[in-house]
Amino acid sequence: MKIAIYPGSFDPITNGHLDIIERGRRLFDHLMVAVAVNSAKSGLFNFQERMDLIKEVTSRMPNVEVVSFKGLLVDFVEEKKAIAVIRGLRAVTDFDYEYAMYQMNNEMSKTFDTIFLLASGEYSYLSSTIIKEYARYGRSVAAFTPRPVSEALLKKFGHDG
Ligand code: ADP
Repeated sequence: MKIAIYPGSFDPITNGHLDIIERGRRLFDHLMVAVAVNSAKSGLFNFQERMDLIKEVTSRMPNVEVVSFKGLLVDFVEEKKAIAVIRGLRAVTDFDYEYAMYQMNNEMSKTFDTIFLLASGEYSYLSSTIIKEYARYGRSVAAFTPRPVSEALLKKFGHDG
């Protein structure tokens, strides 16, 4: 069985992430969406909330599993015997960091490769950070996130009436 891992903070999951999940799951037998627990970023949603939202919006995708991981991605990928890590690339600004991560992971382990999926045009400007900024001040982000996420954001920021 060919397993791929799509790691990230997903704080929270957006339509851009969801697009990568849909495309990634077509390429592999099993796709693990791996939520980083101890990423350097401090999140708006805690990791349990982030996982629950991803589970809810991927519940109809039989070959998608939502997991959390601590520590190094390379250790987690080896432990799960995955053959690939999937990352999304938006603008060129994503490239430097992703390239460095790829090089380091490739030095550390030869058991998997990293596959970069280019963001679909309509999502190429979408980021969790920008979405949180609009939601914070009460703007609807329903066009950019799955419904449970836009509702959770409104609630988090006290705009749910
Ligand atoms: P991280 O903290 O690991 O960057 P993110 O949750 O921000 O976690 O992103 C996870 C992955 O999804 C990254 O590879 C990122 O480039 C990708 N990604 C984020 N937003 C989009 C989008 N709108 N379209 C395609 N890929 C995206």
